[in-house]
Amino acid sequence: MKIRWNRVLLVLGFIVVLLVGIIFLLPKKEVTIELSSFVGKTKEEVETYLKEQKLELEVEEIYSFDIPEGEVISQEPQEKTSLKENDKVKVVISKGPIPESVYKENNVNELGRIPIMMYHGIVDKPSAETSYTGGNVDKDGYNRTAEAFRGDLEFYYENGYRMIRLDDYIHGNIDVPLGKSPIVLTFDDGREDNFKVTGRDENGNLQIDPNCAVGVLEEYKAKYPDFNVTATFFVNSGLFQQEEYNKEILNWLVDHGYDVGNHTTTHPDFTKISEAKTLEVVGKVYQQLDELLPNRYVKIVALPFGSPYKKTHANFPLIMEGTYEGYSYKTEAALRVGWEADYSPYSSSFDPTFLKRIRAYDNNGQEFDISMAFKQIESSKYVSDGDKETIVYPKESESKLKETYSKRTVAYE
Ligand SMILES: [Zn+2]
Repeated sequence: MKIRWNRVLLVLGFIVVLLVGIIFLLPKKEVTIELSSFVGKTKEEVETYLKEQKLELEVEEIYSFDIPEGEVISQEPQEKTSLKENDKVKVVISKGPIPESVYKENNVNELGRIPIMMYHGIVDKPSAETSYTGGNVDKDGYNRTAEAFRGDLEFYYENGYRMIRLDDYIHGNIDVPLGKSPIVLTFDDGREDNFKVTGRDENGNLQIDPNCAVGVLEEYKAKYPDFNVTATFFVNSGLFQQEEYNKEILNWLVDHGYDVGNHTTTHPDFTKISEAKTLEVVGKVYQQLDELLPNRYVKIVALPFGSPYKKTHANFPLIMEGTYEGYSYKTEAALRVGWEADYSPYSSSFDPTFLKRIRAYDNNGQEFDISMAFKQIESSKYVSDGDKETIVYPKESESKLKETYSKRTVAYE
């Protein structure tokens, strides 16, 4: 049979063109698409556009007072971002204002009580090995076992509490999801077991004892990402009692969402020292924090022993404002050693300069221990509407509203 070479060449040529075509076509899928702005558009408009561009759509719907129902509030990624086919675009769409029935169902009350928990040491010891109730390490329950502390955190989480920073609390920045309640954690005395460094890893980073306060807190940060784990540590001049690491510990804390405040240099009873000494014990710690943690600490004092017990004491104004050896300071809030939850920052009863705390200990539900303090506020606790710009409360609580707050307020029946 005679081979028709020109035909064979034609077929081969065709195959080569086809292969080259395929090779060129494959990466051609990487068409870049310049994304439009969707803010203010409707869901249907976004859907049509994304379908034409062969992009995927993800929708999240949230309540909004300002944006009409069905309108896009925000988008991810932003406009003018270059995308490829099948990439995902997320838009947040308004569901309109939240209906009052939702407030009622969730018992929303943003004029309610907020617990500020007072901890000291967290001791690495099984609760069964202490001589006291429920994981208390000393008679008064100032120090708790790590096991008991884990139990406390479970209790807060299970009961719908989500942590907020003390500094945000005093400034009225409360961002907690709908139906959840804020809680504040504090640790006094800068004990070594609050942040115990066990060494460094191969990259030089601090290694933290998993059973010290921060070790347990970090465990819960991973266990419950929506717990919003945070706490404020009040230090004396010994800081965290680890000379080699103190400065690093302070910065580590702030880098990881915790705060550091002032518990005075030597932990005196303010009713037993002079005015000059008051300026010294407060001013010196602020000065120390200014050097080690400039502009990154909170201007809050935890009063040693909760003293003075009255704001009328001569030393009180000097805790709030003063000058020590030419160094001036201003304190925004002071914490007592209290026994019950304090008020909402939007309540007319709120006084950040004299806040009450709850001693975080276990005493079988008596003498203002954790379970008693929480039982007391079961029906009066702060419950969030999920919108940090709006203060929502039942109409009957209206008289408690602090008038000076510049947020939107909603009273519901
Ligand atoms: Zn103390």
